[in-house]
Amino acid sequence: MSFDSKAAVAALQRYEGKSYAVMHAGSVLSTDGVTAAPEDSWEGRARTMGYLSELEYSLSTEPAFLSLLKELDEHSDELDQLTKRQVKVLLRETERISRIPFEEYTRYSVLVSEASSLWIKAKKSDDFALFAPYLEKLVAANRRMASLWNPDEQPYNVLLDRYEEGLTMSMCDRFFNTVREGIVPLIRKVGEHQYSRYPFESREYPIPLQDEFSHALMDMEGIDPRRCTLSTTEHPFTSGVNNRDVRITTHYHDHDFIASLFSVLHEGGHALYELGGDDRYNYTCLYGGASMSIHESQSRFYENLIGRSKAFSAPLLRTARNFFPEQLADVTEEMFYRAINRVQPSLIRTEADELTYSLHVMIRYEIEKQLIDGSLQVKDIPQVWNNLYEAYLGIRPTDNKTGCLQDSHWSGGMFGYFPSYALGSAYGAQMLDRMEKEVPQLWDKVGKGDLSPVTEWLHEKIHQFSALFTPQEILDQVCGGFDPSYYIRYLTEKYSELYILN
Ligand code: ZN
Repeated sequence: MSFDSKAAVAALQRYEGKSYAVMHAGSVLSTDGVTAAPEDSWEGRARTMGYLSELEYSLSTEPAFLSLLKELDEHSDELDQLTKRQVKVLLRETERISRIPFEEYTRYSVLVSEASSLWIKAKKSDDFALFAPYLEKLVAANRRMASLWNPDEQPYNVLLDRYEEGLTMSMCDRFFNTVREGIVPLIRKVGEHQYSRYPFESREYPIPLQDEFSHALMDMEGIDPRRCTLSTTEHPFTSGVNNRDVRITTHYHDHDFIASLFSVLHEGGHALYELGGDDRYNYTCLYGGASMSIHESQSRFYENLIGRSKAFSAPLLRTARNFFPEQLADVTEEMFYRAINRVQPSLIRTEADELTYSLHVMIRYEIEKQLIDGSLQVKDIPQVWNNLYEAYLGIRPTDNKTGCLQDSHWSGGMFGYFPSYALGSAYGAQMLDRMEKEVPQLWDKVGKGDLSPVTEWLHEKIHQFSALFTPQEILDQVCGGFDPSYYIRYLTEKYSELYILN
């Protein structure tokens, strides 16, 4: 029978529609679970989520769907660019899911949900031994899944590739070596020139006013409030289902308005990426962005490269003053710029400053690599974790709560995800270098609080394409290939100037 490309593409869109509906339902449910749902509602939600994950499995492994994808792939020269990429991405995902037997797939979902609730308990009571047996099972399950997905490749490479197409250990090693050599000595020098905290940093900032300020920040970022809303959660995140429905969250502290300020700018950066995708990617697997690293490059762009820049501190302080005139009455632009860029090696990754952040990620990468290749046992993690913090950051955790139990990723079975945080920062620095060359009077405009040239440039180069290109293709197109030396140069110049190291 001859290939009817019109009919095949129509059939593909029907599958995409179903799979979008399952994703949409799951996404709204889990966002609701951490924002508006009552505390005791988890059981009913867990049942529905379990059913949705079964639906996802059967949709992705349906023989008719798999043969449709193969047929489309065989005739890929007859397809347009979008459909061709769609088929590639779907083949990658469905092959992955269908290599895991159904029983194993559901057993793993149960393991992850048990491990996640156990991790919360273990973290609260600082009890690593409580979480350790689950972590062992999760490591074993991930090694097994990696060997099913690609038996010819080293398991950690398979896991890295899951979050960042094409990423390998040797690429990460090269990247983190550059980071270590460039940043560790810089942090040591900065540590010798510390300045103390200003009184305004610990004044009271009423939460209702912080909430109004957050909306003003979203407005500065150019986020359309009819397409993106803000709520509060323990850990800030972004969740989008199509370019007209994106949710971001933040967390307020009443004696620290700076923490939420940068959470909003960060999540706002993720939101702009999700909102900026072209309409034609809605309701397809290509919606939402090229990869985790490219996503982080966008969120960190607004949080750090723009948000913590000297030029933007002026309009940022001016806007904050509209909401907190008394608390900020004695603050100069210089003081504000220094306060938002203070370097202080700390134990908690999510609270780390821009300079030390990547070292937190590097520590997790080194541990994961050894866990997955079997050279590190779960029981030895606390010791190794603490040693690495001491070696790279010069501080040692005194408990596991602020040490190896702090992040949720491992309890969710996410191994290979962490590097994307550091890579995103490095990609962003290189993109900024290009933007400075291509956008006339960039910093003059940013200094007036006008972020539209930033968003327009990112939209034209990155946002509009969603996942049409691989992360590597985006970097090639935007920057002519990835080069981490831009990141090191950016940090060295900024922090040498701030801490007058020369
Ligand atoms: Zn992020």
